[in-house]
Amino acid sequence: MNSGAIADINLSALEHNFNRAKQLVPTAKIFAMIKSNAYGHGLIPAATTLTDADAFGVACLSEGIELRQAGIDKRIVIMRGFFDAEELELVVDYNFDVVVHCEEQLQILTANTLSKPVEVWLKIDTGMHRLGFSAEQVLSAYAGLQQNPSVKQPVHIMTHLANADIMNDTTTKAQLKIFAEASTELSDSTSIANSAAIFNWPEAHSDWVRPGIMLYGVSPLPGIAGVELNLQPVMTLHSKLIAVKNLKKGDSIGYGGTWTCPKDMPVGVVAIGYGDGYPRHAKNGTPVLVDDVQCQLVGRVSMDMLTVDLRNNPQAKYGDTVTLWGDGLPVEIIAEHAGTIAYELLSKITSRVRKQLC
Ligand SMILES: *Cc1c(COP(=O)(O)O)cnc(C)c1O
Repeated sequence: MNSGAIADINLSALEHNFNRAKQLVPTAKIFAMIKSNAYGHGLIPAATTLTDADAFGVACLSEGIELRQAGIDKRIVIMRGFFDAEELELVVDYNFDVVVHCEEQLQILTANTLSKPVEVWLKIDTGMHRLGFSAEQVLSAYAGLQQNPSVKQPVHIMTHLANADIMNDTTTKAQLKIFAEASTELSDSTSIANSAAIFNWPEAHSDWVRPGIMLYGVSPLPGIAGVELNLQPVMTLHSKLIAVKNLKKGDSIGYGGTWTCPKDMPVGVVAIGYGDGYPRHAKNGTPVLVDDVQCQLVGRVSMDMLTVDLRNNPQAKYGDTVTLWGDGLPVEIIAEHAGTIAYELLSKITSRVRKQLC
């Protein structure tokens, strides 16, 4: 059975990209960020490949539990932390590190005596204004955690950067300054950098870095391709031509007939659509490789199919391989044509797409 979309997952590329991160931050430890099903690549294959990571980062408990149930005993940090006492109990049971970012979590920690102390990353909001204590609140939060018998000492400190992808950005400079001031006397173990900061902000490397998107071969920096940063794409998404038709000048294609043939021409129908995770908003002209020849998407993407202009590859025939992104066609380019970012495209690959580890 091989008539649908397949995502080849190149695990040696994943390893290569991890080593690239290591090379950029030789003295820091690495949380490999494998949340959201390893950005769509498959949580367990990613975890079993990234054996050199010092820890894994996931967003929520269910992701961490899935790792433990697969036998992964590496350190795992739950980036959103626990939500209530029940989740806190699971944190202890499964031996997770947690991020503590708000007053409610401190209260839950105080109100519940744990069977063993939990490893805590205290998050400071240095300007992203999503999760974290403000610089003013963080000292008292830290003091509370230090006195709490349910908390393993020392407490670690972290923050997250909003604009690390922008070179010399003033917001990032301000965030780093606030973090440095707030954390001077708090801890000997800190973490700031995502993928973009690993490349752009050496001063943010500190003790632990948290690469995500770069591990999957995608550039975190605008206007720069992954290959230029010596990253290799991990996912190559491909499918097949399931029909080739010779249409007449004036024929319009697909729902709404949004694209009309400017002349007599061959058009191919590809077995992939938004039901597989290919973006419905990809515009006319989005590149598609048909047998390695670059062609263009035309007409609306439907749930199970999309259509391509085959004038660049008139020999294309029924059954030929069509690559939507990956090797030879950076997912960043598709994201641009669809008005989104590669993170979203990768993590939205649906379960209908068969993953082929290679
Ligand atoms: C997802 C995430 C990262 C990784 O970000 P990338 O841009 O993918 O490198 C780092 N830190 C936190 C807290 C995250 O949630």
